[in-house]
Amino acid sequence: MPNRYLIANWKMNLPPEGMDAFLGAMEDADVAVAPPYVYLKDVVTSAPKNVLVGAQNCADQKSGAFTGEVSADMLRDCGARFVIVGHSERRNVYGESDALIARKLALAIDAGLMPVLCIGENQAQRDGGYATAFCSDQLRAAAVPQLANASEVVIAYEPVWAIGTGRNATGEMVAEIAAAIRDALGRFWPADLARRAPVLYGGSVTPDNVDDLLARGEIDGFLVGGASLDSKKFLALAGAMKTRFATQ
Ligand code: PEP
Repeated sequence: MPNRYLIANWKMNLPPEGMDAFLGAMEDADVAVAPPYVYLKDVVTSAPKNVLVGAQNCADQKSGAFTGEVSADMLRDCGARFVIVGHSERRNVYGESDALIARKLALAIDAGLMPVLCIGENQAQRDGGYATAFCSDQLRAAAVPQLANASEVVIAYEPVWAIGTGRNATGEMVAEIAAAIRDALGRFWPADLARRAPVLYGGSVTPDNVDDLLARGEIDGFLVGGASLDSKKFLALAGAMKTRFATQ
């Protein structure tokens, strides 16, 4: 399992140590980085070749009068290899619907980018016992025809209540949802893609909880916010993954 499924989502931040210092520290690690749009080309240029570079978002339209938007084709032209779609901050802060996210997913595939589709329940849905049903519904809503042409789509399970809160899901919770995700993918997505889709976890992942999250062998990596701004912490996550996947 490549460590490129360890994805840094810098959000609207940069590593305090500086991008070049951070990227220099990744020389021997197979990781992925999603900087803010305007730094994409710089990161593509300066990242070691083992670092996959992608974007945090893309437009839900191919081109036209959409002030402030950046298309999936433009991201590909800047050297991006993947794009995150449906992050909970996009869904909840900017009101992005399942239908809009499905359009982004389709355009990312058309552009030849690897989509990283984020799904996950909020606290009320978990408390009500609907976490698995909600995640399955989000996957069904994303079952666009373009999936038939995709070589790889990554699913990131990111419970909203765990993102940036310091409250991570337990390994047990993640294992339960990962099984539900694989079941839903098998029901709603093209069979071959569903079988191959890597499933990541995101939500307050740190070097202290990474081993528990990896212990059950249900997930293929992580989408990381806070801990991805510090190269030492991020390298510690990469090291934990390397050890875990080497022993499988
Ligand atoms: C994220 O924003 O995708 C994320 C997982 O953030 P954090 O690791 O800070 O919870």
